[in-house]
Parts: sequence; C-alpha cells; structure tokens
Amino acid sequence: MVADGAEDHSRQLYTPELLAACQRLPKVELHAHLNGSVRPETIRAILDERSAAGEALPVTPQQMAELGPGGGRSLAECFRLFDIIHAVTTTHAAISRIAQEVVADFAADRVVYLELRTTPKARPEYGMTKESYVIAVLDGIDAALAALAAHPRGPQPQLLPAHPHPQPHPQPQPHANPNGVGPGPGPQPAPDASGSSQGPEDQAEAAGPEAAGSRRGGVASPSREALAAASAELSVSPPGTAPATCLQEPRPGEKQPPAAQPQATREHGSGTGPAGDGAEGGAAVGGGGGDGDGRGGGAWPPIAVKLLLSIDRREDAAAALETVQLAARLAPRGVVGVDLSGNPVVGAWAAWAPALAEARRLGLRVTLHAGEVPAPAEVAAMLAFRPDRLGHCCCLDAGLGSELRASAIPLELCLTSNVLTQSVPSYPEHHFAELYAAGHPVVLCTDDSGVFGTTLSREYAIAAAAFNLSIADLQELARRSVGYVFAGEEEEAALREAVERGLAGNV
Ligand SMILES: [Zn+2]
Repeated sequence: MVADGAEDHSRQLYTPELLAACQRLPKVELHAHLNGSVRPETIRAILDERSAAGEALPVTPQQMAELGPGGGRSLAECFRLFDIIHAVTTTHAAISRIAQEVVADFAADRVVYLELRTTPKARPEYGMTKESYVIAVLDGIDAALAALAAHPRGPQPQLLPAHPHPQPHPQPQPHANPNGVGPGPGPQPAPDASGSSQGPEDQAEAAGPEAAGSRRGGVASPSREALAAASAELSVSPPGTAPATCLQEPRPGEKQPPAAQPQATREHGSGTGPAGDGAEGGAAVGGGGGDGDGRGGGAWPPIAVKLLLSIDRREDAAAALETVQLAARLAPRGVVGVDLSGNPVVGAWAAWAPALAEARRLGLRVTLHAGEVPAPAEVAAMLAFRPDRLGHCCCLDAGLGSELRASAIPLELCLTSNVLTQSVPSYPEHHFAELYAAGHPVVLCTDDSGVFGTTLSREYAIAAAAFNLSIADLQELARRSVGYVFAGEEEEAALREAVERGLAGNV
C-alpha cells in the first residue's frame, strides 16, 4: 500500500511462481532477531489477554490495532511495533510462546537450520533475570522442536501475496519528524488497514516533539531516542542517518558467475569450547526426520535451531561480559555464539571488545552488526577483530569495502530490512549485487521477519528478481550458506547432506 505519489520500486518484483519455488528450497537462516520475528497477531493476542485480565499495560490493544498489516506497514509503524513488542514481552510465558511460534514459522517456510538471536533482558520489575529470559527462550524453542518432531510434516508454507512490500522513497524529506531523524516519506498506512488516513509523519507531529521518543502516554514516536530505547532487538538503522551510499558502485541486475567462494572462517571456537560440540544437543536437534517429501530426509529434523545472545550496544563492559558468560553456561542447550547489535549510533567498540574476545576464548562464535551507519573507525576495528560473521555492512567506504572482501568474512545480508530502513536506497542498488558478483561469502537473511512482514523465501525471491538470479543460483546460495553456520562440524556436515537431499528433491 503506497500513498499516491510515493515511489514503489518493488511492486511486482517477483511472481507467485518464483516465490513458490523459493519456498520449496531448503534454506538456512543466520540473522533473525527473536522479537523482530514475532507474529504481530500474537502480540495482539497477548495484549488482549493481559488487558482483559485488568493489567495496566504501556500500550493498548487499540494502539496495536492501528498498525497496518505487514505487507503495507510503514517504517514508522515498524518502529512502533518494536516498542509494543518490548512492552509486552515481560513474562516468561510470553517469551516462550513467541520463541515457539517463531521456530514454527521458519520451519513452515522450509528453513532447515535457524540461528535465532536475542538480547538477554533483566527486568526485575517482572521477576526476570537475563538468565531466566534466555531459559524461557530455550524452553520455547524446545517446545517447537518437540511439536515438529511429533508432526514431522510440519505446517505448510504460508503463502504471501505476490507483490512485495512498498519501500520508502530513497530521498528522505527534511520534515520527517520534529527531531529530524524520522521515517521520511515512506509508504503511508493504508486507510482500510489502519482505520485512519493519518500518516506516520502526521502521527509524529501530533504527538509533539516532547512526546517523540518518550514512552509517556504510550508508544513512542519514531526518533533516534525511540530507536535507542526500543530494544536491543532493534537492529535497524535510524532512518535518515544512513546515506544512500554503500559498498562501492553496485551494478544493478548484473549477473556474473560468482568466483569460487572462500571457505567460511572457522578459526575461532569451533569445537574448542562449550559452544562447540555441546551445540549438538539441547535445542539443536528436534528429532523427527525425513518424511519423504524432500524436507531434508535422513536423520535431519524438520529444523535445527541454535541461539545467539546479543550484546546491546547500550551495555557497558561488565554487562557485555555477563551476556558472554551466560552464553557459555547455556551452550549445552544450543547457545553457540554472541552478537553485537542495537542502535548503531550508541556506544563504543572499546566497551565490548574485551567481552567479545572472552567469547572467542570460551569457544563461542561471534557475529557483529557492522556498518549500519557510516562509522569507519568502528568498522575497521571490527574487521581487525576478525569475527566469524558480519551483518549488514551497508555503509562502507571503498577502502573498508576492499578490506571486507579481502577478509572473506561471511556477510549476513537482509534486503527488505535494509531497504525499508533506508540503509540502502533500493533493492537493485543493494550491495548484495557487488559482493555476490565478487564471490564474497554472503547469506540472505530476514533480520526482523515479523516486523517487516517478510520471510526468508521472500528474500530469496527478491534477490532473484533484483539481481537476475536463476533458481540454480538460489540453490547455490542456499548450499553455500551451510558453510557459514555456527553449529559444530559434525552437525554442519549433516546439515550439508540434508540440504543436498532437499535440493535434489526439488530440481
Ligand atoms: Zn539485525
């Protein structure tokens, strides 16, 4: 849904047939935030339940109902949804439920291996510690895997509309919001979906400058402060802070045979500590097995799930270390690594580097959100750290781009997220094009599928359409993504066989 006059580069980008073909591919998801992947209808249901129980909540079901549907949600609405999710994920039961449903949804999209990430949250006012939060997540994952094992055929893929989302206009307007860092003239909510024709800019203005970024009176309006406060799950760039310049000059639509893919770096952690072989158990394996319909076959379950714990960029060195140590303790339950995420304009690399080094020492794998906004010194430090993977890298200058390619560090790329948040101006201009053509190891991911209303299959379909990839190219992308997982070597080998079986069943 795009307001009159708004530019929609992506409409009809892919066909239903292409999307269906992508849904049949066995896929690997390596960059998915738990809270951003939640079903909006679940948030709605939790709000209704708690509201009916007479609980005072910082958001109302009505405020949730005012948000547009996933396919037509504006950027401002996406940020409001992050706030609402943060507000309702205050009970262990809600967290377990969300985790269970997220795993089921990825399995339904034929994701056969999932690395979820989440930021451990201590919320003493709700009786929640960082550890109890993560255990609730792991319990939800286990429940999903048990359900899938009991019904190995699993749910059927949920078909999406053929047309992808509208995307924001590439040029932000100066009147975006009172703080000047608002959503820009992105797609407006559909009147029939929101019940109001008022757009996000109007809503922000109506809230007043003092309300923007504040939780007083309900859901915060989009602003730099709102982004910082929303949640460490919030992995997106503040709109308007990222220039429409990415890695070098992309070559839209250019298709070249990718060069030989460098081996995924496995220098750190694999099998050397608690996150190594320990990951073979717990949440890693859900039982079940092949059912003859090409869902992996053999001993591979419908989906295997690992968990990464995210360090919020707002956290200091001690809090970061606490998260790392928690990850190591919970490695036997399937925690395999740590991530650095959150508001990209907050914090300093020096605060988290010691904790990340400790993670490596403990045998955990490390991935970092990098280059979501121009931050050359930080990106240089991150590259020097040599993490196992990086996410995004939208805003690298030529020198850092060359350094990234030379490093061969696998890159998690999230097309819809980057376009909707204006980290890149359009799908065809996404730096996927250049990196793919250069043979750099890349893996397509969703980032926040629930908030942005996407699926991994949809991301594959967008890539195929935007970069002129064939089904064989997509199959090769899926195949190579296995090399970048944080699972132990034995499990990676089993996954590779399962993916090959799945691909062979769908040629
Ligand atoms: Zn992210």
